[in-house]
Amino acid sequence: APDPAPDPAPVDTHCPYCSLQCGMTLRPVPPDGETGGVEVIERTAFPVNRGALCGKGRTAPAVLSSRVRLTEPLVRRPDSGRLEPATWEEALDRIAEGLAAAGRAHGRDAVGVFGGGGLTNEKAYALGKFARVVLGTSQIDYNGRFCMSSAAAAHQRAFGLDRGLPFPLADVARTGCVVLVGSNLAETMPPALRYLTELKEAGGRLIVVDPRRTRTAEQADLHLAPRPGTDLALALGLLHLVVAEGRVDEEFVERRTSGWPEARAAAMAHWPELVERITGVPVPDLRKAVTMFCDAENSMVLTARGPEQQSKGTDTVGAWINLCLATGHAGRPLSGYGCLTGQGNGQGGREHGQKADQLPGYRKLADPAARAHVAAVWGVEPDALPGPGRSAYELLDALGRDVRALLLMGSNPLVSAPRAAHVESRLRSLDFLAVADVVLSETAALADVVLPVAQWAEETGTMTNLEGRVILRRAALTPPPGVRTDLSVLGGLAARLGWEKGFPADAEEVFEELRRASAGGPADYSGITYRRIAEEDGVFWPCPERAEESARTGTEGPHSEGAERPGPHPGTPRLFLDRFATDDGRARFAPVSHRPAAEEPDAAYPVLLTTGRVLAQYQSGAQTRRVSELNEAAPGPYVQLHPLLAERLGAAEGVPIAVVSRRGRAVAPARISRDIRPDTVFMPFHWAGPGRANTVTNPALDPVSRMPEFKVCAVRLELAEG
Ligand code: SF4
Repeated sequence: APDPAPDPAPVDTHCPYCSLQCGMTLRPVPPDGETGGVEVIERTAFPVNRGALCGKGRTAPAVLSSRVRLTEPLVRRPDSGRLEPATWEEALDRIAEGLAAAGRAHGRDAVGVFGGGGLTNEKAYALGKFARVVLGTSQIDYNGRFCMSSAAAAHQRAFGLDRGLPFPLADVARTGCVVLVGSNLAETMPPALRYLTELKEAGGRLIVVDPRRTRTAEQADLHLAPRPGTDLALALGLLHLVVAEGRVDEEFVERRTSGWPEARAAAMAHWPELVERITGVPVPDLRKAVTMFCDAENSMVLTARGPEQQSKGTDTVGAWINLCLATGHAGRPLSGYGCLTGQGNGQGGREHGQKADQLPGYRKLADPAARAHVAAVWGVEPDALPGPGRSAYELLDALGRDVRALLLMGSNPLVSAPRAAHVESRLRSLDFLAVADVVLSETAALADVVLPVAQWAEETGTMTNLEGRVILRRAALTPPPGVRTDLSVLGGLAARLGWEKGFPADAEEVFEELRRASAGGPADYSGITYRRIAEEDGVFWPCPERAEESARTGTEGPHSEGAERPGPHPGTPRLFLDRFATDDGRARFAPVSHRPAAEEPDAAYPVLLTTGRVLAQYQSGAQTRRVSELNEAAPGPYVQLHPLLAERLGAAEGVPIAVVSRRGRAVAPARISRDIRPDTVFMPFHWAGPGRANTVTNPALDPVSRMPEFKVCAVRLELAEG
């Protein structure tokens, strides 16, 4: 059953979109097409955005009352071949039978589950449990694999623990120098830009690394514009100069790290002149960057999708972490490395069991102790839990072959996955596809059954933002008749598949179980309760139930400054202050070297394509493309290209250009600009249809994180028919 009717008083909650999870207050108003029954008002008390919102957050209620919103289940009828209205009973029966039939005919691993980085912690947890306990399948992963998985893998490798930002975002304003690598913060999370503004007002320096001169790069003291796919070489070149100029913090390296000789040797093979040839960044700019970074008492490197969405993303992030470690800018306040996660619950979504290799609490599925702990919470034998499954793209690629039926929740891979035309054909080849969503997304339109589910303002649940701050989204509205919550859907399906208990619809009940399942794990939520989150406006993990357990991660908490304080664990705003979370407490250097992108330009495909987001749209656009104000601001895709490239092609502003790779073509109008390198074109990826950028992108995978190479591939340009 849906959550009980909420109080009509204003409700403090959070934006449905990105990982900043901006605080906002929703005030009930008479519903119409734009308000959705609630008005967004400023909530200055929430410390991350301090009341500021971008246009996406401000207009989010419009999707609540969108006329294209789904309010009844749809089932594909064999006679018409079309999706037509059905009862909930029929729809859930069809899904249970569709999933069970595939398992009976082809084995349990023939059933797949695909989740999303926008799902609440409770949903991510319940989905992982549903897959492993009810379906008994190993084949579960989620679209967060396409988001920050390379940074997560590099974080684990270097520090023994992955939390996007190991410090509060507000620390960014108080450091001395920030290197922002492959992040267009001004468009992806504008309220966060204020921290960079405050940094500069306080005399700090900002270096932006991006092949395009973005709105964010315009704010920089120094903009480095490397050729796409060469960020790894750039970081190595900077580290080379750090060594050559005697800027290594030898005492820190000796006391708190391991693996420096190997990493140093790898960096010394990357001479500045060689790095200039690889990246296109002039040696004097490399020197300037090193001076700014090393002169500051405190410095940070923050990465986003640019360096991460590469087939060497883990090593690329590792090279930037090496730079922090060698200069002593890690493991102390106001310095360090962090990842700006993209999706709303990209962080929590990867901690609670919807990732192919993980169990709740960020435990490893292959670890016998982790299996035993979680199995006990779930009331099953450890041996009953399947092992690790395929990563997101590999799972999509296996559809219709090894994986014959799929349950998909909170994702639209037909737009967001690489090599999207191929993914579309794999989705079409399934024996059975069920999708739970709020609108008929491009992927949902292919399904055998579509379930209409509640939206952010209609249900309660926790999210974990990019800082590791666990926050509470509260229901401000009752879902419309005909709509149910994702948790209710999982409960209904579990009951049909023989699990009457263990899948409650009440989010707090699920969270209480999640607390027990995460207890003692790397992402320990056992000390966090709904009540605490409400009282404290968010609690940072790890937060064990017992305060003395924080020593494990060398955190700021009772271990370092509040041990004398009685009472519950305060949560952990800053990690690694005393020790890193590795076995020996030392951060590990990664001995990484430059290697080319999986696909380099050649005579047939001489130009580089890179992709990204724009201010007024979010991810696959399933929600934001339904908001008129956002659509007017960003009505469709485009191809950004340099005047030199446009001239060579004979293209004028606005003419349709086909961007063609070995995987397909995308057509969109030209946007000619000097803000991009002459060897590179850019396309935003929010749209389906002929302008779908991901038709063109390369699914070559990082060997560690299994991240596809969204950020660079070889293309040729053609003038398309008008
Ligand atoms: Fe929402 Fe992100 Fe915009 Fe904040 S920055 S309002 S969380 S989309």
